[in-house]
Amino acid sequence: MSVNLQKAEPIPASARAAIEEMLQSGDLFRYTAKENAPVTLLEQEFAEMMGSRFALAVASCSAALFLTLQALDLKPNAKVIIPGFTFAAVPSAVVHANCQPVLVEVGDNFRMDMADFEAKLTDEIGAVIVSHMRGHTSDMDTILRLCADRNIPVIEDAAHSLGTTWNGQKIGTMGLVGCFSFQSYKLVNGGEGGILITDDEEIIAKTVIMSGAYENNWQKHGCDTNSFARFQNQVPLYNTRMNNLSATVIRPQLEHVPSRAENGLRNHDHLAARLNNHPSLHVPPPLPGEHRAPDSIQFLLNGMSDTQAQALMAISANAGLPIQIFGQHTENARVFWNWQFIKDLPELPQTRAMLMRACDLRLPASLSLSDVDLIGDAILASVDQARGEKAA
Ligand SMILES: *Cc1c(COP(=O)(O)O)cnc(C)c1O
Repeated sequence: MSVNLQKAEPIPASARAAIEEMLQSGDLFRYTAKENAPVTLLEQEFAEMMGSRFALAVASCSAALFLTLQALDLKPNAKVIIPGFTFAAVPSAVVHANCQPVLVEVGDNFRMDMADFEAKLTDEIGAVIVSHMRGHTSDMDTILRLCADRNIPVIEDAAHSLGTTWNGQKIGTMGLVGCFSFQSYKLVNGGEGGILITDDEEIIAKTVIMSGAYENNWQKHGCDTNSFARFQNQVPLYNTRMNNLSATVIRPQLEHVPSRAENGLRNHDHLAARLNNHPSLHVPPPLPGEHRAPDSIQFLLNGMSDTQAQALMAISANAGLPIQIFGQHTENARVFWNWQFIKDLPELPQTRAMLMRACDLRLPASLSLSDVDLIGDAILASVDQARGEKAA
């Protein structure tokens, strides 16, 4: 198999001159310049692209989630709802913020189970993090309605959802705060990095200062609000800023978000249609109202045993196209039973059953349809060979 699935999104050639200039000047720290530092420009451009009032660029999406929780001023050990299927960095951010994660069941469609969500949305819940894992959007209408009724803030972990919309509205703009990632395997590749967006003056003032805007450096953010002076020296500095070089690599990629999102969806849907023709494979459809921007594909194995699932991982790896099955690895950071740093880690039978049969494959947005066809051939051949293994 000659298609490279680990390929990250390319850095546009238009970034090279600005990067070279940055290296010549050595001006990598966002607060050296009085104004218009690349990080500040990235924040302004990102906020404008999303239609939000404010943006804050930081070291990672995890840092954005952590700062947001800190800014909410929850009681110590407050309970925070997260889905039972997400990346380990999400419950980690909750624990880091001195809160207790409450895990909600995730269904066979990779989205939060709304009955379990509602049952767990008790008076004790201080906040909800909707992690749109692998870009799968949970039912935002129901989540926002239930949380508004109870006055519970909703944080969107949109790390993998840049370009996704819900009833025409951009994912990440529907909750109080939306957090995104620029880690290399997301739609915009900064190596590392994250950004949060919000319309809330108090949240932006606190998170900007906590991200490391010591002394009067918040003045260099160009945010149109008087809230900053209130919080200066009143909140701790966690120093998790973005540097100018990262912003210089990221900025020229923003204009490519729509085309990358469109290519990603075309590739995904083309492959999904082929896989759905196979009796053992199922790619769940999007929810009504959801318009996706995927750079990976997830599909379920129907009527295959653990032995056959294990065989599929080995056979596909041998064929040069390693299919991961979340729950069949001992070390996968996306399965809840490996989050052993959580106190009283619960059991989620429905999520576990899904994870034991859910396959995961990167599908970089830059692939051509003929690449995707080769991938489809390889998957189908591996599945047929694995089904020939004796079911144990
Ligand atoms: C990548 C990812 C994160 C973590 O992002 P970082 O920028 O690496 O901290 C969190 N949540 C989801 C759903 C992700 O895909």
